[in-house]
Amino acid sequence: MATTLGMTAPAFAADDFSGRDRLRAHSQEFRKRVEKVSEGVYAAIGYSASNVTLIQAEGGSIIVDTSANPVDAKAIVEAFGDRMTHPVHAIIYTHNHPDHTGGATVFAGGDKPRIYSHKLLVTAKPDIGRGRRDGGDAFGIALPDDQFVNAGTQLEYGRVTPHTREGFLPPTQTFDGEEESLTIAGVPMQLILTPSEADENVSVWLPDRKVLIAGDVFLKTFPNIAPLRGLPTRPVEKWIASLDKLIALNADFIVPGHMGTISGADEAKDALTSYRDGIKFVYDKTMEGISKGKTPDELVQEINLPAELRQHPYLQEYYGTVAWAVRGIYSQNAGWFDGNPTHIFPLTDKERAAKLVAMAGGPAKMMEHAQASLSDGEFQWAAEQADYVIALEPQNGAAMMIKIRALRELGGRQMNATARNYYLTVAQSLENGAQDSRSK
Ligand SMILES: [Zn+2]
Repeated sequence: MATTLGMTAPAFAADDFSGRDRLRAHSQEFRKRVEKVSEGVYAAIGYSASNVTLIQAEGGSIIVDTSANPVDAKAIVEAFGDRMTHPVHAIIYTHNHPDHTGGATVFAGGDKPRIYSHKLLVTAKPDIGRGRRDGGDAFGIALPDDQFVNAGTQLEYGRVTPHTREGFLPPTQTFDGEEESLTIAGVPMQLILTPSEADENVSVWLPDRKVLIAGDVFLKTFPNIAPLRGLPTRPVEKWIASLDKLIALNADFIVPGHMGTISGADEAKDALTSYRDGIKFVYDKTMEGISKGKTPDELVQEINLPAELRQHPYLQEYYGTVAWAVRGIYSQNAGWFDGNPTHIFPLTDKERAAKLVAMAGGPAKMMEHAQASLSDGEFQWAAEQADYVIALEPQNGAAMMIKIRALRELGGRQMNATARNYYLTVAQSLENGAQDSRSK
């Protein structure tokens, strides 16, 4: 076991806000604009939670993904302007996430477009998650503007225009194989099943323009393989295989599901290859660690991307992290048990807290330690100590205040948007709860 007792270095230097600053800089990816991808292909970025692609076709248009709701969709139609002509012959959904499917009625207008998707979309569950414990929210919907930076894959997730899905139109044409070749209004294309963030994800390939409209199989961030928001781990092996399929296309242009487009054959190949290599590295190392009997905690410490991938602009941990991917892949393949027999039937949190607090000399003594940890910049340890006291004394307001401060310090330094948002919304919710209980 690599675990050692004793002091560990604080995760952050107390004055180090470089992670937050890098996250802020990444918001540039979500600024509003229409990018010309290639001849007759335009991507609207930053008008909604996800990208919408316009393909100009014979006597009309084809739309790939439809934004989060009719309000955003109207803004995008306006931004496309006369580049988008009617009739809209077809709408293609890359996957079922509400931010990609909520504005179809607006793009359809008075036309009767065919609506394409993979057959899996029809039964796919909306991917909103089940993990709102203690008011925590990975997208930061409830955060005040001065605390919010971005939502990881988008500038705002439902903060201005909620993901109502009221503009959803059900698919009229589905396919259920690995891929489908078709020509819509003179535009030849392939719809390729590329499970990744979503099992039903479809990438749209325009072979004569060498444009790949990828959906959420490629984003300009380390992927969110095992999200905080209470979802099953994404299908990692399939995700790697999906990227292999896309690399083989030799695209000249990529439109990701979120963030700016990529242009140039070398850039496109490098983007997809590095993404595949990054995911595969973490997967292989985790599986190797499982076979050697290592625990998830040990693997989180040991597994780091090799330097070249670690520095790659599209593998920065703005949305997913390597650590959560390791934990997700571990539990996906080896279950919840880390192999240490002490952990077969562990003490409850409350039992452990009672014993540790007693060893520390009682709640007041533990609080002194927690306060000192806060001052020393050991925010994680401060939060853990506060948790021990709160487990015994849920109404201990001073312990709650230490926890809230620790969460704010941790969240405030995060480069990962979903961790930042989760820390800060829980802090806000606990603070509101503490105020509510004081005013009673
Ligand atoms: Zn998406």
